[in-house]
Amino acid sequence: MRGKGVPVRLEKVSFSYGEAPLTFDVAFAAAEITAIMGPSGSGKSTLLNLVAGFETPQSGRVLIGGADVGADPPSARPVSMVFQENNLFGHLSVEQNVGLGRSASLRLTEADRIAIAEALERTGLGGKERRLPRELSGGERQRVALARVLVRDRPVLLLDEPFASLGPALRDDMLDLVAGVHAERGMTVLFVTHQPEDARRIGQNLVFLDNGTVAATGSANDFFAGAGPEAFRRYIGASA
Ligand code: ADP
Ligand code: MG
Repeated sequence: MRGKGVPVRLEKVSFSYGEAPLTFDVAFAAAEITAIMGPSGSGKSTLLNLVAGFETPQSGRVLIGGADVGADPPSARPVSMVFQENNLFGHLSVEQNVGLGRSASLRLTEADRIAIAEALERTGLGGKERRLPRELSGGERQRVALARVLVRDRPVLLLDEPFASLGPALRDDMLDLVAGVHAERGMTVLFVTHQPEDARRIGQNLVFLDNGTVAATGSANDFFAGAGPEAFRRYIGASA
């Protein structure tokens, strides 16, 4: 399925790990890249986990493509996610780890094999198909995780600081890759990042979280032109 992006909405969502609740009331435009920024602990990962279905709201609704996905397990939602720490299977090869994006049983069709080969080539992993994750650098492991979501090709892509551990040059390569795939497929991307330059590079919209809630939303250009709230300017001043 070539997923044209669909809108994502958290409607009066409240969620708590047991202490003060996190609350989200925010919409993400279909087929656009939205950068999600905010201090550590502000709720960025929780927001993505609510969309992916790894957490369930105590109240409110999560809508993907207009449909309430509250009762759907993660595997049934039209999303895929890349985490900060890659979650590859250590006993499976690069090719098999990517193949899991197509088939949980690794029973692959010819079309699957072609998609996998393309994604490996595109992420610069051609020639490393048979390696195990431990035989790769940290950057290469994150490329495998990215290749896996590329072959999954869902309408919504969730990125939780996936490139935070990479150096600037490699990070730029990965961001350009995400932007290139987005230009072709038009999926909806929610991109959590601590790096203002990364948000600026590929973000069309920006959502700023502070203290477990949405403090401001707008176009990324406007934020970086100084239109964001004082708390945002302080935040990027501190993390830049
Ligand atoms: P961010 O990704 O912006 O750093 P998180 O969404 O991880 O923020 O965390 C939001 C808040 O929820 C923080 O106060 C954090 O300590 C708390 N939190 C996150 N995960 C858990 C958890 N598994 N158990 C208890 N509290 C958690
Ligand atoms: Mg986080």
